[in-house]
Amino acid sequence: MNSRYTVPHFINGLSVDTLGERYADVYNPALGTAIGRVALGTVDEVEAAVAAAAAAFPAWAATPPLTRARVLFRYLQLMHEHADEFAAMLTREHGKTFADAQGEVARGIEVVEFAVGIPHLLKGESTEQIARGIDAWSLRQPLGVVAGITPFNFPVMVPMWMFPVALACGNTFILKPSERDPSPSLLHAQLLKQAGLPDGVFNVIQGDKVAVDALLDHPAVQAISFVGSTAIAEYIYARGCATGKRVQALGGAKNHMVVMPDADMEMTVDALIGAAFGAAGERCMAISVVVAVGAAADQLRDTLSARIRALKIADGMAAGAEMGPVVSLAAKQRIEAMISAGVAEGATLVVDGRQLVVAGREEGFFVGGTLFDHVTPAMSIYRDEIFGPVLCMVRTPDIGAAIELVNAHEYGNGVAIYTRDGGVAREFVRQIQVGMVGVNVPLPVPMAFSSFGGWKRSMFGDHHVYGPEGVRFYTRHKAVMQRWPNTASAGAEFAFPQMK
Ligand code: NAD
Repeated sequence: MNSRYTVPHFINGLSVDTLGERYADVYNPALGTAIGRVALGTVDEVEAAVAAAAAAFPAWAATPPLTRARVLFRYLQLMHEHADEFAAMLTREHGKTFADAQGEVARGIEVVEFAVGIPHLLKGESTEQIARGIDAWSLRQPLGVVAGITPFNFPVMVPMWMFPVALACGNTFILKPSERDPSPSLLHAQLLKQAGLPDGVFNVIQGDKVAVDALLDHPAVQAISFVGSTAIAEYIYARGCATGKRVQALGGAKNHMVVMPDADMEMTVDALIGAAFGAAGERCMAISVVVAVGAAADQLRDTLSARIRALKIADGMAAGAEMGPVVSLAAKQRIEAMISAGVAEGATLVVDGRQLVVAGREEGFFVGGTLFDHVTPAMSIYRDEIFGPVLCMVRTPDIGAAIELVNAHEYGNGVAIYTRDGGVAREFVRQIQVGMVGVNVPLPVPMAFSSFGGWKRSMFGDHHVYGPEGVRFYTRHKAVMQRWPNTASAGAEFAFPQMK
């Protein structure tokens, strides 16, 4: 698709193509050229989406859970049929390789597979005879209009962490996707409609801060799910909570992999190279720091640097590509500036990814795989999220120092340990202050029937996303006590009742 296309909103079952004064260019990062335009929503357009979602809510909430699940079953089927279309869209607007994009779509589909089992998950609990003649039970009910605000790096999967569960629970949904790769949001909307979802139940508002702020401030929006950078996550959490909403806001990361000297080095390097450089490091679970314990460091550095130099970096649609471009020129410039800062701060630049030019894609936003050694906690390349293909090696004398290092970092999204020693791994799992932990698993992303979320400044709010935590987030607990008296009233009671 080379002609400039337009990505509209989707409100009340219809595409709303109002490319007004405010719009953004959409790029193909491998080509480095603008290929489309996306509308940037106004306050009035947000108002229209919220009104449509609010109007659709009572009927959708009253629809039996099994009937709602059947709509998602049909959507699941359509997702399978359109999986490669989504993946191609992803590669075109994001840049990741086609194989990686297919994996992203597959992980999103797993959340729909989870959500179609919702009737079971919405069951409450009951106790008979909690007092004489009184039974009690609990139930979970949908919240109303809820919104999802999502990042550029998983434009298919991250929205799918949210809306299948929210819809299955009986809420109506407004998605505000990233303006950098907005097209998949429209395909989701069209397929949900085709699956039989009533108009207004799922809406898309394209846009930027204007649309986000309008959602945050709208009194009819009951809950906000956000995934993005920490600075914005913190802002969303504070402003959303201030207007009385339920908010889950997932932020940035600096994920460490701790490598013990007894680890299988070949397996470790294979895992590390994929985890650090897959999707050009633009994954919230990417490994960006390798902590080499004791004697592991020298061998790791030699094997790693050879593998990084051999990375196949190309247009994501090219056969055999292992890594594509980063998302934008601004991202490329920021990452290269951070590499320069690392050099200035005294880290050893073992492999330098700046100045990479990919033949036939000279204008593309490519950055080569980069490795730093002798990185220290004081350096900006260690403290800050780079979100690019840059791996920092920190050396520690023992596992205790490695755990201390990881726990002292402000982020706590994912972490991994590579070792053959079960006792060391067990103690690591127990002591580490991170939300998702891998033992000889580099990217411990929980399955759809578990829940995903980080600790510390990688997440603001209580409930992790999708899985059982997602069901809790998108529903409210109600406690009921019921008596059907068949005797005359025993008279008024003024003292707090006591069980006899
Ligand atoms: P971002 O924070 O720039 O944008 C995320 C969303 O917020 C987008 O929809 C964007 O339009 C909106 N936004 C941006 N600036 C805003 C502002 N000032 N006010 C209101 N809304 C604003 O993030 P990104 O660059 O799209 O994504 C990359 C970041 O997301 C990385 O930090 C990455 O670690 C993080 N991420 C985290 C997870 C996780 O699960 N913790 C998953 C994926 C990505």
